[in-house]
Amino acid sequence: MKFGFDIDDTLIGLREYAFALYQRKLGRTVPLDAFHALNRVEIHEAFGMTDQEGSAMWLDSLEEIYYSECPPYPGAVDYLQQLEREGHEIYYITARTAEHGQKTKEWMKKQGFPVQDDHFFCGMKDAEKVEIIQELQLDYYFDDKPAVIDTLAGGTVNVLVKDQSYNRHLDMPRIKDWADLKELIQTKKA
Ligand SMILES: [Mg+2]
Repeated sequence: MKFGFDIDDTLIGLREYAFALYQRKLGRTVPLDAFHALNRVEIHEAFGMTDQEGSAMWLDSLEEIYYSECPPYPGAVDYLQQLEREGHEIYYITARTAEHGQKTKEWMKKQGFPVQDDHFFCGMKDAEKVEIIQELQLDYYFDDKPAVIDTLAGGTVNVLVKDQSYNRHLDMPRIKDWADLKELIQTKKA
């Protein structure tokens, strides 16, 4: 089968990592509760920043957020390695821009994710992911972002939502923990 994955906040805890980084950079302590209460993908509101300030801070911190110590979610690497061993095809579809494509691919390999060079797609806007997902004829696709998931409703791909505070309104199969995923997929197949 063909499995497709978004990367940020689906396979790796990018926002939570950035949330800790912002605290260090700003010299401020913001309780993690504020992170878990966010109802949008962007994190700057928890620091009292405007959208403009938040966007500037994100861009300014981007290299560090993407390529330092951001951890994969527990069980994610193991699960994808298992899929590869079982002979499934694994695709990555990320909105990270093309200029970050090669470096992101290498970073993912370093974390232990199984990456085939020609199974890696970057630079997709939210509404463009659907095209590549349909073209690849994926059986399963995993993402966290409502703006992407909304475009996939009614299609042939089985969509699974990585649980985040900003996507709880979506009534779809949901992964809280990657270790639970095997069961979820078996349930869907039955
Ligand atoms: Mg994402």
